Amino acid sequence: MQIKDLSSIDFNNKKALIRVDFNVPLNESFEITDATRILSAKPTIDYILNQGGSAILMSHLGRPKGKDNTFSLGHIVDNVSEIMSVAVKFVPDCIGDKVRNAVTNLQPGEVLLLENLRFYPEEKAGDISFAKQLAEWGDIYVNDAFGTAHRAHASTAIIAQFFDTKKCIGLLLEKELKNIGKVLTDSKKPVTAILGGAKISSKIGVIENILDKVDHIIIGGGMSFTFIKAQGGQIGNSLCEDDKMELALEILEKAKTKGVKIHLPLDTVIADEFSNDANTQIASIDEIPDGWMGLDIGPKTEIAFAFIVMQSKTILWNGPMGVFEMSNFAIGTKELGYAIADTTREGAFSLVGGGDSVAAVKKFRLDKKVSYVSTGGGAMLEMLEGKTLPGVAAILE
Ligand code: AMP
Repeated sequence: MQIKDLSSIDFNNKKALIRVDFNVPLNESFEITDATRILSAKPTIDYILNQGGSAILMSHLGRPKGKDNTFSLGHIVDNVSEIMSVAVKFVPDCIGDKVRNAVTNLQPGEVLLLENLRFYPEEKAGDISFAKQLAEWGDIYVNDAFGTAHRAHASTAIIAQFFDTKKCIGLLLEKELKNIGKVLTDSKKPVTAILGGAKISSKIGVIENILDKVDHIIIGGGMSFTFIKAQGGQIGNSLCEDDKMELALEILEKAKTKGVKIHLPLDTVIADEFSNDANTQIASIDEIPDGWMGLDIGPKTEIAFAFIVMQSKTILWNGPMGVFEMSNFAIGTKELGYAIADTTREGAFSLVGGGDSVAAVKKFRLDKKVSYVSTGGGAMLEMLEGKTLPGVAAILE
């Protein structure tokens, strides 16, 4: 079934209730340190206002336990106004009479931001009566919150049933689905998936699903050591999930039968403590002495991984190659990012997703040099696992 998008609905004189993802990072003075998520929601809001509609925005912020001013969306109203070029109105609640009044008085071209949905535990619980109260505020429901589309919360999925045919996805969600689809379905070969980060346990579902879709899987970061130890290597004090070693061997075996090449690091930058000031050396990946831990891929691995990347036409990157937050262990991630950027310039399609990989491409100023940076880590991983996102399924129903 074709999912409905903005162009299939008439917004003129209508109130659009939009689930956005304004879960932005704030510093101690409640200033936004990265407004990407707000900027990403702008095209949908602009479209609706230009069509003669008004926008009622609902979002969560952080993980409040009940009502807590620290997590109030009131802190970001001025920034949202500035980004949207409209004086955004704010109500300090998301249900009840205050909201009803504000919604009744809302005129075409105006934007109203509701208070943090997670001030009510009913939001995460997917409570149907809470969803129904929220649903009262709009003539049309638009889901544009890719970052929470993998959750069946009241505002992301449960609410959709109250809108019959008057529901659709926003432009951000549409773009995310299209770009992730480019890797999963209409990808140009050879396809390379690069997986890194701390744990294999959080990426097993992805590895298993993509085995049928990719030609190469590059595995770096902390998760590579479970594979190395499972094959009999000495990994010293490096990160390892002992209970996943058997699974790691099964993955290697499955990949072999499917003709997928798995590339593990050859060498690593080892450190005698988990600190940027640690003593460091280069070691072979399977000969790490006790008391030392691998915190980045080594120079031979950088070249080997870049070589695979440069032959690829489609590249997916999720997870850093090392502890890139510390400058002494950031080189592997940075060099891999450069290889992906160079290959993209030569015409490959590259998709980067997951909180830490996105932070890494931004840190190395490569975010404009890859084809697409996904705004949702968990949602992207679930799509890569082959799951249908509840937020998308609810629009299809
Ligand atoms: P994840 O959330 O599983 O994608 O993991 C991301 C985190 O993994 C980042 O904070 C990295 O610092 C960390 N990481 C990457 N490589 C290593 C490593 N070799 N040892 C310890 N932590 C690592």
